[in-house]
Amino acid sequence: MNGTPPIMNFPGPSPLHAFTALPISLPSLLAPRRTPAVSAANGNSNTAISIFTSTGFQVLSNKSYISYIDRIHPDIAIALADVPYSTLPGTKRVAKMGDRTQEWLAQLLNEKREEQVVFAPVLPIDFLDQSEYLNYIADDLVEEISGFAFYDSNLLPDIPATTAVTKLPRLSLDEPSSPRQILRQISLGMDVFTVPFIGFATDAGIALTFRFPGPLPTDADTSNGTGTLPLGIDMWPASHSTSTIPLSASCACYTCKSHHRGYVQHLLSAKEMLGWVLLQIHNHHILSEFFTSIRESIKIGTFEADCEEFAKVYESELPEKSGQGPRVRGYHFKSEGPGEPRKNKAAWGNLGSDDQEVGDAY
Ligand SMILES: [Zn+2]
Repeated sequence: MNGTPPIMNFPGPSPLHAFTALPISLPSLLAPRRTPAVSAANGNSNTAISIFTSTGFQVLSNKSYISYIDRIHPDIAIALADVPYSTLPGTKRVAKMGDRTQEWLAQLLNEKREEQVVFAPVLPIDFLDQSEYLNYIADDLVEEISGFAFYDSNLLPDIPATTAVTKLPRLSLDEPSSPRQILRQISLGMDVFTVPFIGFATDAGIALTFRFPGPLPTDADTSNGTGTLPLGIDMWPASHSTSTIPLSASCACYTCKSHHRGYVQHLLSAKEMLGWVLLQIHNHHILSEFFTSIRESIKIGTFEADCEEFAKVYESELPEKSGQGPRVRGYHFKSEGPGEPRKNKAAWGNLGSDDQEVGDAY
């Protein structure tokens, strides 16, 4: 990379927590991935991957990645994986993926601090194509790793079922599009999740409204007339502009306790960043409660029946996006060269004028 990223200069026992202002009680995770993934022109090499960063495409070598893990102390580090995003890999490329990932993982385990927790990546290719790599982990490395990170959760049933492997936690790096897909992954044996749709929903101006296994009586009035409940509410329509109820009646999050729908709708229309901040606080709370209820349900042995109930009560996918997202930043898209249309239209113009060329709204 060019220069030293600012996070490397953060002090304290957990620079990653300090840099991201994440409370120390919440576990942090470091993985060389972004969602959605961007295909890189140069591809990966035997010692490095190509990544898209806030300052453009960069090469990230395994050596540097290991030194970053050593410096910023994530609670969980996911070893570098050779996953090409530009084209579907051919037979030769697939063989390389397993070989390189195996070597990079071995290097990390060799050089890491003793207390550093490492999850081994499971590649998004057929089990047979990476069986050599996975068997190597099962035979030689299982005592040194603390879990598996799946790029594709469908491979979960194919993992070798030795006792030492089965007891390790499994983390999903997949992109479930709905809570129903999360439930399916849990029933397959997934333990820990990254959930990109929280951010997608927030960007789209959608307030999530689901509970597991079903709504409380106070929430039941959100039916859309089809017999099933929506998983969220699109907060863009002007019909919310005079609404003084919270995003979700039974929600105890800061947003629902402090503000009403009309305010959030106003902030979105004015493209005020606070609108998306309030939505994100709420959406995180909804997912956090969702997982709390799932843990409870598994504990008391009603998980299967509760999943059926959830599928009966709620729609299968999140509502369609209708409004615009927040201001698009440089790292959200790939520049196609000079003369591109503006990515961020001004939210308002001069009073009494049609002139929209007033610069950025904020
Ligand atoms: Zn809320």
